[in-house]
Amino acid sequence: MTTSDDADLPQRWPNRVTAPRRSPVWRPPEDIADLFPEVSGNTINGLGERTQRSPSLIMWANPASIAHGAVQTHMTEEFLAHPELSTVLRVDDRHSPVPVSDQVVERAPEEWAEAVRTFALHDGPLTVELCGIAAIDRSWFFADRATDHTYVIVLGIAMDHQALSTAPAPTSAMEVHRQYNRGTSAARHLADWIRAQGHRAEGHGGPGAGPLLMVPAAIAAGLGELGKHGSLINPELGSSFRLSVVLTDLPLVADRPIDNGADEFCHGCRVCAEACPPAAISHTEQLVRGRTRWYVDVDRCLPYFAASHGCGICIAVCPWSTPGEGWRISTAVLDRRRRRNSARATADTSSAGDQQHP
Ligand code: SF4
Ligand code: SF4
Repeated sequence: MTTSDDADLPQRWPNRVTAPRRSPVWRPPEDIADLFPEVSGNTINGLGERTQRSPSLIMWANPASIAHGAVQTHMTEEFLAHPELSTVLRVDDRHSPVPVSDQVVERAPEEWAEAVRTFALHDGPLTVELCGIAAIDRSWFFADRATDHTYVIVLGIAMDHQALSTAPAPTSAMEVHRQYNRGTSAARHLADWIRAQGHRAEGHGGPGAGPLLMVPAAIAAGLGELGKHGSLINPELGSSFRLSVVLTDLPLVADRPIDNGADEFCHGCRVCAEACPPAAISHTEQLVRGRTRWYVDVDRCLPYFAASHGCGICIAVCPWSTPGEGWRISTAVLDRRRRRNSARATADTSSAGDQQHP
């Protein structure tokens, strides 16, 4: 719920990254608009649908199989034609997983969970900054990409915020893809390590879509909350990170979603929405496939995204992404919530004595 107290909250952060309202609102040039299909990306996404269903692919799949295939092909060609971006784009990226060992290592789920975290964060050949575990929810998977695995291990890969802050310049896109590559490789290393111990596992990373939506899995695994800009907010990294996942049948213990006040903060913050050139970010949550949540208008975002090597402005300007700010904002929001709840409890207690019974 938005309160008047929320409305000025972002103004209290002197170190926040701000951006004036981009005006006029960006409109796609003809060559970009011509790439788009008749069908709305919001319709494919299930905007306004009351019933829960599997998500449908919009981008980062076989271009011949998706309505927005021409948009994806255009973006890939632009990347490959760019002297620097072409060096970070993994084309035809294949990996041969190690065979699942016949020697099955048995451990308690708690021990496996700890071992997975240690490998991902400290001991593996390519370490990452965040690691969480969630029991698999089949509703995260695209319609034709079901799984029989039981857990998803979600990895968070930090981006260099200074490079990200150059968005939408190619230097930002290069950093995004460098970290996509690190996340994909780290997920494959982790999956291979699990397979070498006799358990099934498969690693997936971006920007290719893989079998599932990674953001809801990451929320369930405790990596962050969904922000108004449609990306995750983590108290340590803000929105300046990428995701990769490992699907496995290893016995594990799931983590829990976190509440660091990010969702509450978003209700009173306008920074990303004002910075978004095509005005794709809404200030109200919307119904999408049976759930009410923050939602970015795909038909507005995607043309700018395609014209700018992947944009990234909204996650760069988010105040939580500024190094060191996330925990500070989180502490302030949670303190304020505690004070508000405590004041309400006091008011309830004192008014309870005023009640007259018939
Ligand atoms: S990525 Fe999309 S939503 Fe975010 S600022 Fe760019 S155009 Fe707007
Ligand atoms: S996502 Fe970040 S920039 Fe956008 S409203 Fe939330 S806190 Fe503000």
